[in-house]
Amino acid sequence: MGYETEKGLAPSRRFPLLVWGPAESPCHGARTLYVRSGDGGLVKRNCFSCNQPWSVSKYEFLKLDINIGCPRCAKPMTRTILPYQENHGFECSACEFRERFADVLPHYSELVR
Ligand SMILES: [Zn+2]
Ligand SMILES: [Zn+2]
Repeated sequence: MGYETEKGLAPSRRFPLLVWGPAESPCHGARTLYVRSGDGGLVKRNCFSCNQPWSVSKYEFLKLDINIGCPRCAKPMTRTILPYQENHGFECSACEFRERFADVLPHYSELVR
């Protein structure tokens, strides 16, 4: 597994989003950070202490307070479950642009310290 490029990111976004999880990690009671876990759009919430991945439910994702703008028209995007592979994602209600949550997050390997 090599370091992944930011090929999935919109040109207007230079940095991955750092989104902290709503709960502490069960393994260490540490903060948790949402990360991209693979190429298939999978999102995990990793322990910030040991990088152990924890799964993210649709319910948890849809409750998150994340505000990102559409890279095409700059209108606010809403959280949704994308039809393809049921990935967590965002949809622009104005121009219907969609993107995966995984594509705006850091790759889990970037957490290793
Ligand atoms: Zn841990
Ligand atoms: Zn848009």
